Amino acid sequence: MEICCSVVVPMFNEEEVIEHTYTRLKQVMDCTGEGYEIIFVNDGSRDRTVEIVAAICQKDPHVKLVQFSRNFGHQVAISAGMDYASGRCVVIIDADLQDPPELILEMISKWKEGYEVVYGKRIKRKGESVFKKVTALLFYRLLGSMTQVDIPLDTGDFRLIDRKVCEVMKGLKEKNRFVRGLVGWAGFRQTSVEYVRDERFAGVTKYPLRKMISFAADGITSFSHKPLKIASYIGVILSISSFVYLFVVLFQKWFEIGTVPGWASIVAINLFFNGIVLMLLGVMGEYIGRIYDESKGRPLYIVSDTLGFQNKGESVIVKPSYVPEGMREQVEGYAG
Ligand code: UDP
Ligand code: MG
Repeated sequence: MEICCSVVVPMFNEEEVIEHTYTRLKQVMDCTGEGYEIIFVNDGSRDRTVEIVAAICQKDPHVKLVQFSRNFGHQVAISAGMDYASGRCVVIIDADLQDPPELILEMISKWKEGYEVVYGKRIKRKGESVFKKVTALLFYRLLGSMTQVDIPLDTGDFRLIDRKVCEVMKGLKEKNRFVRGLVGWAGFRQTSVEYVRDERFAGVTKYPLRKMISFAADGITSFSHKPLKIASYIGVILSISSFVYLFVVLFQKWFEIGTVPGWASIVAINLFFNGIVLMLLGVMGEYIGRIYDESKGRPLYIVSDTLGFQNKGESVIVKPSYVPEGMREQVEGYAG
């Protein structure tokens, strides 16, 4: 049967939920009455996630597994899932059941109406800390104010995309990926379905503060040059003010008014300027680091193993960005 819908599930240490996620996804996908596949992307889990999914793969031909050689990150895992998906539409959903799989049916029906991107919009988030909710709220608004790209507010990666959009995503090779922004950037006919984001079914968040900050920085630097502009505005304002102050100092010197040796003021001015200069250098560094990442030309991810893709009779389009030498014959469509 032709695959209508591919469901992509990124996983990082999700042993506690994955069985349950599979059961719920299967129930939903069986209801569609169309061909489907569920692609679990294992992003370097160090627990029993892989064993559990491998066992499911043995039983259910709809289920496939892409195994990374290490942890490459959530956004890369989603991108790999898109590379391996062969459905006419692709749904991305988290493994932790915070996004209700039942909503996929609504997404598919919107897709059948002709929309090419159907994203889930969170009208409420349950079971997340006040800190996460507030920072997420502020981040999406800040990002929105900094970029011309239409990135819908309060949406995650839970969304359905048409094959056409998936092909566009596969063609984008950037390393520090912010997938929800890239989908917005691609355009196409977009609509939303609203939902209440549940608590995690089990386990803990795989996005500690460190990852959240780097994710936010990827979002902003991928879609906006504003921080650089702000840096140069601050630079201009500061140099104008120091120029003015230079005149004041010279004036005081010439007319010998108040030329008391001012140690404190010199130290204060120095600290202030050095702080600002270092901060602005940091902003530049964020961009330069990303340019460096892009210029290295390394593959986005490394696949160490796959399961379930060999099923003959299915149309499998597999174009991973890198497959180890010994496995290339097994992976149809590997471009080298
Ligand atoms: N995830 C991943 N790689 C990572 C971190 C997370 O594949 O390095 C997956 C994780 O297993 C889950 C999804 O990305 O399916 C979202 O992560 P999580 O639910 O922990 O994030 P939160 O919902 O707390 O923002
Ligand atoms: Mg989650």
